[in-house]
Amino acid sequence: MQLNRSISSRPTRNVRIGSVEIGGTQPIAVQSMCATRTTDIELTLRQIRLLESAGADVIRIAIDSKKDVEALKQIRKETEANLVVDLQENYRLAEQLAPYVQKIRYNPGHLHHHQRNVPVADKVKFLVDTAAANDCAIRIGVNFGSLDPDKREEAADPLETALLSAHEHCELVEKLGFQRYVVSLKSSNPLSVVQIYKRFAEERPEIPLHLGVTEAGMLPDGEIKSRIAFEQLLAIGIGDTVRVSLTLPDDEKDKEVLIGRKIIEDVKAGRFRSVPEFLDRGLNVISCPSCSRVENGAFVKLAQEVKRVTEQYQDKKLTIAVMGCRVNGPGETDEADIGLWCGPNFVNLKLGPEKVGAFPYDEVIPRMLEEVERIVADR
Ligand code: SF4
Repeated sequence: MQLNRSISSRPTRNVRIGSVEIGGTQPIAVQSMCATRTTDIELTLRQIRLLESAGADVIRIAIDSKKDVEALKQIRKETEANLVVDLQENYRLAEQLAPYVQKIRYNPGHLHHHQRNVPVADKVKFLVDTAAANDCAIRIGVNFGSLDPDKREEAADPLETALLSAHEHCELVEKLGFQRYVVSLKSSNPLSVVQIYKRFAEERPEIPLHLGVTEAGMLPDGEIKSRIAFEQLLAIGIGDTVRVSLTLPDDEKDKEVLIGRKIIEDVKAGRFRSVPEFLDRGLNVISCPSCSRVENGAFVKLAQEVKRVTEQYQDKKLTIAVMGCRVNGPGETDEADIGLWCGPNFVNLKLGPEKVGAFPYDEVIPRMLEEVERIVADR
């Protein structure tokens, strides 16, 4: 189901991910991610099928524990989908799960947490050896919200930090003779996404790129943000695979794939939308697309509610970030004026990097609105 590429393409090298090949003149692949708990095998399989029926070429699932690995083994028996696993801190799980997936995604910023005494280069070697032994591709997934802490000290700003980190990991992987990898450099700001992918593509034109605007949020803004970035990049041949990240209820997750395909088709047909310039001006509500790590099923409703109650502040320059879990929530909300990240029973409320407190789900919205009012009045 990959879309033929008639838009200009760059001579990136080809990378096979199971039955799909990306890079060079290959069609642009569309990816998505399951938002279900991986241990809920039935629900996860249902979501995999939903995404497949929408035309997903590669489907990501999150694995954080041995229980998730056991679930993955069962899921693998029931589906032929090209699966990519999203590794978090526990990189050693890669060895157990690699026989069941076609690609391993790791985030350089997350390799510092477990086994701090083991050099990052050794951890990368472990991942590369595991991928090579199991016929897997790799994605080096750099994310502005969880950047490598060492690199932060070396670089002037998040964009430079992300670039440094990506270059370092490309070198680490290639020194080991491994070339079957792709890179992503995601930010929640589409303008930063355009800027960094252009820079990286210029510096490493041969490396295939996975495009994405992280935490793009709800519709319609989430689609608009992805479109702003993808249109500008795909039109100049940058991008070999894409994922549109949207905050959606489980049974609507296929929209990520359908919208991704639509954007590619539009660019191919020369249909460009004029995009609103709201990005650095008015209210910007960002929210993660949720995944199996989400700590409370009320997350999607909470994100929708935040958007609804803040509509009256459309013209105020204010960023509110809503995240589903403790894995990425604390870091990814640091840059927002107001951050909310979900725990099992409480929602943590932040002002930039400072924690305000933890509030029950039914109390956090009025508390957040107090902060919104205060910020708006101060400005
Ligand atoms: S913030 Fe947590 S729940 Fe949301 S997508 Fe990221 S890992 Fe998943």
